[in-house]
Amino acid sequence: MKKNKIDTVCVHEGQLKDLQHQGVISPLYMSTAYAFDAVDEKRYPRYFNTPNQVGLAQKIAALEGAEQGLIFGSGMAAVSTALLSHLRSGDHVVLQLDLYGGTTNLIVEEFNKFGIEYSFTTGLLASDFETQIQPNTKVIYLESPSNPLMKIVDLKAIGALAKKRNLISMIDNTFASPINQNPIAFGIDIVIHSATKYLGGHSDILAGAVVGSEKQMDVVFQMAKNLGGNLSDYTVWLLERSIKTLSLRVRAQNENAMLLATFLLEKPSIDAVYYPGLKSHSDHELAKQQMHGFGGMLSFELNTSHDLDLFQKALKLIVPAMSLAGVESTLTIPSKTSHALLSEEDRVIQGIQNNLIRFSTGIEHIDDLKDDINEALKKSKK
Ligand SMILES: *Cc1c(COP(=O)(O)O)cnc(C)c1O
Repeated sequence: MKKNKIDTVCVHEGQLKDLQHQGVISPLYMSTAYAFDAVDEKRYPRYFNTPNQVGLAQKIAALEGAEQGLIFGSGMAAVSTALLSHLRSGDHVVLQLDLYGGTTNLIVEEFNKFGIEYSFTTGLLASDFETQIQPNTKVIYLESPSNPLMKIVDLKAIGALAKKRNLISMIDNTFASPINQNPIAFGIDIVIHSATKYLGGHSDILAGAVVGSEKQMDVVFQMAKNLGGNLSDYTVWLLERSIKTLSLRVRAQNENAMLLATFLLEKPSIDAVYYPGLKSHSDHELAKQQMHGFGGMLSFELNTSHDLDLFQKALKLIVPAMSLAGVESTLTIPSKTSHALLSEEDRVIQGIQNNLIRFSTGIEHIDDLKDDINEALKKSKK
């Protein structure tokens, strides 16, 4: 069969046919009970096999070039099920230093209870991951671009390292989205998304996804059906609708983020800008090699001649909010929100200054975003 381009996959892949009325969109099947059919598999939402779940899983798997996928009730349900399915008591996992806060919490608060050992890397080079590998290591886990400094991990090098040492590699690909980065093409085994972010894209859906090979996804499924973290079919249906515009949204966000990063770079009120699309970003060359687009996420440091709180309050269009990747631009101050639980010393080790602002670029007109920032800079001047 002809392999469609990614924009077409967004619109058509996994679409269910409305054979009864010939509607053009997928019908929604809300049943929790299905009559036994000839096949021996029972159909039940918590078995991840209702028609809408199967259709959407096929769409997200196709977007990542994976054989199979499963849709979850949250990004954390996807992360926890993927990790716990491939780890057991006595195993060890190597994790990237700067992970999404919820993932770090899952590991440091829960893994000891299951007898699962773990080590965090001290840097992001493949050699930093390799030095943490123990005889009982089973999984390498990464996130690229990372939060909030958009550091890039070499996917090809980690994929090769995992193969050489017979480990399963997993990546949280949320920040890139399947439009900008497809880790399986670089030899990574399992790709995880918080679909709450770009896949949903409208700040109104909480969901997650895991995709990989048939063999690896079978292991994930065995754990998934026992943990019970499936997404309700109604939200599955909404998420399918959202993904139809994924490529359009993400390209607009890429474009806006690049324009915004360049704009901020020239401002005397901004000390530093972290965006992988900028030549000045430490990992720009690596990002160019493995990403189709540089993404909608960036961060920057506000000069101390400005009041951070006033800056935030003076914005009219841009919303200070924790979540990200929606069509509306949002920002957060990591030292006060996502990374507030770390000591200032630990934050500095990770390069997170108190005046760092993380920005999620929406699809508004760039001129309006610039005006909003210019006004807020004026009003926040000390
Ligand atoms: C938001 C997020 C998660 C967690 O997703 P939820 O849908 O909130 O459970 C995991 N990883 C990354 C990178 C995220 O941004």
